[in-house]
Amino acid sequence: MSELPPDETPRRLRPATLLVRGGTTRSSWAETSEALFLTSGFAYPSAESHAARMAGQEEGYIYSRFANPTVRMFEERLALLEGAEDCRATASGMAAIHTMLTAPCNPGDRIVAAKQLFSSCVWILKNVCPKMGVEVEWIDATDLSAWRQACSRPVRLALVETPTNPMLDAIDLAAVAEEVHRAGGELVVDNVFASPILQKPLQHGADWVAYSATKHIDGQGRVLGGAVLGRRKAIEDHIQQYYRHTGPALSPFNAWVLLKGLETLDLRVRRMAANAELIADFLADHPAIESVRYPGRTDHPHHEIHKRQMETGGTLIAFSLKGGKDAAFSCLNGLKLIDISNNLGDAKSLITHPATTTHRTLTDEERSAIGLTDAWVRLSVGLEDPNDLIEDLDAALKG
Ligand SMILES: *Cc1c(COP(=O)(O)O)cnc(C)c1O
Repeated sequence: MSELPPDETPRRLRPATLLVRGGTTRSSWAETSEALFLTSGFAYPSAESHAARMAGQEEGYIYSRFANPTVRMFEERLALLEGAEDCRATASGMAAIHTMLTAPCNPGDRIVAAKQLFSSCVWILKNVCPKMGVEVEWIDATDLSAWRQACSRPVRLALVETPTNPMLDAIDLAAVAEEVHRAGGELVVDNVFASPILQKPLQHGADWVAYSATKHIDGQGRVLGGAVLGRRKAIEDHIQQYYRHTGPALSPFNAWVLLKGLETLDLRVRRMAANAELIADFLADHPAIESVRYPGRTDHPHHEIHKRQMETGGTLIAFSLKGGKDAAFSCLNGLKLIDISNNLGDAKSLITHPATTTHRTLTDEERSAIGLTDAWVRLSVGLEDPNDLIEDLDAALKG
């Protein structure tokens, strides 16, 4: 028996409604805003009930490392938005990825991983998975023949990110899922860059979706959080015990903040993406810019794949400067409004120079394999007036 109460939100409701109402359970006080159950434990009406609950024969909360009512509201709301059967929330995006990559795997299993992954995901795959006897094969995830080759042997999991960081490549989810399934494996998509508003990997054949909720879902720079979403039985069989005993649980306070973040997620992401579209066009015409990569622009090399998978171009832009690294640094240093920060998906526009920061530990070959030189910067477009952002960039680019 599940230790979690059933979710009663009608599934036919539309996303904007689910984001405000989904998964809500009320206490006996009938509060309008979701209650924050800042509690580590729960009391039982009797010794018999305690024994039954611990044995999994009675429904109810036991301990917040396993489940908590506020965390559960966040999990259910996100699952409804994603169209997933179930969800487990974690303390950070990396706790989600770590759980996802370790819990289902046994010694001898193989993971196929994209070369284009967030650097801490690369670290886990290089340092943790091999210690557990799990083999990791790295491939250029944009290359379908590489997938065909890698999936000619049994696969347990495959991990991709699309759009990728920082070059915003598109990975063809439907084609990759088909290859991975043929090899008996499951496709995990780190959907942070697109957000659950703009891209639904499960609809394109993925089996699992992982999030850093720190990014768009909070989107206001306050808390860390993460989530793993997938089929209920797969979570119960492969994730739940590991999650329960290794302790990646999300704090109820952070879950409450993220739950409130979900209420405005649709509004924020769509406005940020609309701003990004304007800024990408401005940058593409700017004489100091060498190249712009924005999934929503037809000159993006993977525009057609992005268009199939993602509702709009998203909130992130990568661009390279004609003057290389010096020009990139001078642009970052000249900005008055846009902050230099490695975070993304925030209400505040943030800019970063990946080659010297988030991607500094990659070897030169690894960086060139993903097309990243030190002329590139990554801009996460926020909720400011786009004209103010354009004026800020224009002034910084003029030096
Ligand atoms: C930020 C990020 C993560 C890690 O999330 P944290 O919440 O920082 O632990 C994983 N994947 C991607 C693509 C990210 O951007």
